[in-house]
Amino acid sequence: MTHQTTTCPYCGVGCGIRARTGGGQLLAVAGDPGHPANHGRLCIKGSSLPETCNPEGRLLQPRVDGQSTDWNTALDTTASRLQRILQQHGPGSLAMYLSGQLLTEDYYVANKLMKGFIGSSHVDTNSRLCMASTVAGHKRAFGADAVPGCYEDLELADLLVLVGSNAAWNHPILYQRMQAAKQARPEMKVVVIDPRRTATCDLADLHLQLRPGTDALLFNALLVHLAEGGKLDHAFISDHTEGMTHTLLAAMEEAADLSKVASRCGLKLPQLLQFLDWFAETPRTVTLFSQGINQSSSGTDKVNAILNCHLATGRIGKPGSCPLSLTGQPNAMGGREVGGLANQLAAHMDFSDPVNISRVARFWQAPAIAKQEGYKTIPLFEAIERGEIKAVWIIGTNPLVSLPDSNRIRKALADCELVIVSEAMQHTDTLALADIVFPASSWSEKNGTVTNSERRISRQRGLLPAPGEARHDWEIICQLAMRLGHGAAFAYRHPAEIFREHATLSGFENNGSRCFDISGLSQLSDEAYDQLQPVQWPVTQQHPLGTARLFADGQFFTASGKARFVAVHAREPEQQTSADWPLLLNTGRIRDQWHTMTRTGRAPRLMQHLSEPFVDIHPQDAEQLQLKEGQLARLSNPEGSYLARTRIRDSQRPGEVFVPMHWTAQFTGMGLCNSLIQQRVDPVSGQPESKQGRVSIQPV
Ligand code: SF4
Repeated sequence: MTHQTTTCPYCGVGCGIRARTGGGQLLAVAGDPGHPANHGRLCIKGSSLPETCNPEGRLLQPRVDGQSTDWNTALDTTASRLQRILQQHGPGSLAMYLSGQLLTEDYYVANKLMKGFIGSSHVDTNSRLCMASTVAGHKRAFGADAVPGCYEDLELADLLVLVGSNAAWNHPILYQRMQAAKQARPEMKVVVIDPRRTATCDLADLHLQLRPGTDALLFNALLVHLAEGGKLDHAFISDHTEGMTHTLLAAMEEAADLSKVASRCGLKLPQLLQFLDWFAETPRTVTLFSQGINQSSSGTDKVNAILNCHLATGRIGKPGSCPLSLTGQPNAMGGREVGGLANQLAAHMDFSDPVNISRVARFWQAPAIAKQEGYKTIPLFEAIERGEIKAVWIIGTNPLVSLPDSNRIRKALADCELVIVSEAMQHTDTLALADIVFPASSWSEKNGTVTNSERRISRQRGLLPAPGEARHDWEIICQLAMRLGHGAAFAYRHPAEIFREHATLSGFENNGSRCFDISGLSQLSDEAYDQLQPVQWPVTQQHPLGTARLFADGQFFTASGKARFVAVHAREPEQQTSADWPLLLNTGRIRDQWHTMTRTGRAPRLMQHLSEPFVDIHPQDAEQLQLKEGQLARLSNPEGSYLARTRIRDSQRPGEVFVPMHWTAQFTGMGLCNSLIQQRVDPVSGQPESKQGRVSIQPV
């Protein structure tokens, strides 16, 4: 029997796990008391991991054109098809679509191969669906994609504001930390801002059940209220920020009349005032935000509207006082660190500065460095659709289910000349459209690092051997790179070597002007890498134990060193109801499932909570439509249709329905909820507006 520590593969909380293995099996898991994210706690998804770790349903062999084959044949065939496309159509005809489930080391070699050696920057990731608006908002305000605070701030705050976040279901261990903090200090206030009354509202002193999409207006009103109430931190604003005057003027234009704001947000004025006053009076405030903010056609502006209020009050870089984005996936942050987004190059350097491109090219000794940013997710699949991108390699994700307008994605992939899929499971919706299939190792087999929502790098450790012929993603990418003639640059034998190179690049010609710097970890021996304890970046020679909070010194990563206010004009969501499609659709997760259920759908315990797709509808709407509790109903619009069982809930606002995003055609044959969502994106971040659609409902 062996005991090892590792990290949970599900959400961005990044909980530490103690695992017991024996006889080639994962026997038991428990929360790691030594991990600072969870201090020994695990939610039901994490504690059910042993139920999901067995060879049943795993993909065990490579496949080419539907036939099982050996690795050499699969890799040789892939290399020769890619080379032919490359010769005929150039590097811009190749793309990769990656995943926040990948380890940082997997991400690093994928990004290096494509952007440095093939010369295509069409590398994007499903983190685009999750965090892209926060990345863009952080860069606009701070000059870097940097989360200022840490989880400990939740316990130190006097006011917690959760915006567009059902943390009780989606970040359960952080929610438990908030619950414990409130129990210890009942005077601590909690405000939840969400169009639905979710489980998170159980903790709330105040729930603002606002009209969907009006968050930016609400925070503009808060900025005006802070200014008019004399609550601005003028010293911080003048010493450490720029752009306050025109930002405040823009907010005043649309949010000076609080009665009108309350009406537009669908709130009662006293509720609105209560929130504004609590925020104004409470220096130790943490504002947490998640997909309700990000998955919007104005997500970046919403993020900046929140950041504006923290900058205006100097509530950043101080204990118990920060904006804190809750990352969806376990390694959405690690992917951002290596450059896994199409508009990034590597190590938080982007394509906007030729110096970055030259620096990364010299560091990698890259023969074909990409010179400009590539297609973000939705344009990337549009380029596949029109035949511009002829080969796509999808790794560790199921875009047919998770992307908006699923029917369009299906057609694009079906028509694509070469679809390569690296996948751990035998059956996924996307796999059915693959020409070449690589069997990949999975959690409990993979070995590397991930970064959670508070910038904390933790080790995921290989506990079990991969089944059948499954290989690690970084190995598969390196083996293909060798066949494409890039062997010397991809001759890694262990993930520790990749991590050291990644850490070295983060510090390469970095005089402190780049926030992401883990050069303090660049000399780790293999043994030290294996023993690496959770640590928050930056990790440098000056800060070898990591950094809990950023911007404590008031220095930011903009050219002037000052944080930027961003003037925000609140915009309505692009997908709106009409006479034919009269109900607003909201999509999201449920407590016990994860993404497209390829793992959690295998655990009987996790299916007990909610076992089939549902649609939540307000009693008034149900009565009008003559829908009964438990009745099957069909949601439809011009993009698609979806069948689900009705749940009548006054937690919904009238005129709005909610469906979970997990169930796939694989599980139910009842349709995909994302087939109902249009491909509308935020113009700055490229993040799709997955939180809003419009549908009609008919009883079945
Ligand atoms: Fe895993 Fe998230 Fe649950 Fe922690 S809160 S155990 S990271 S799913």
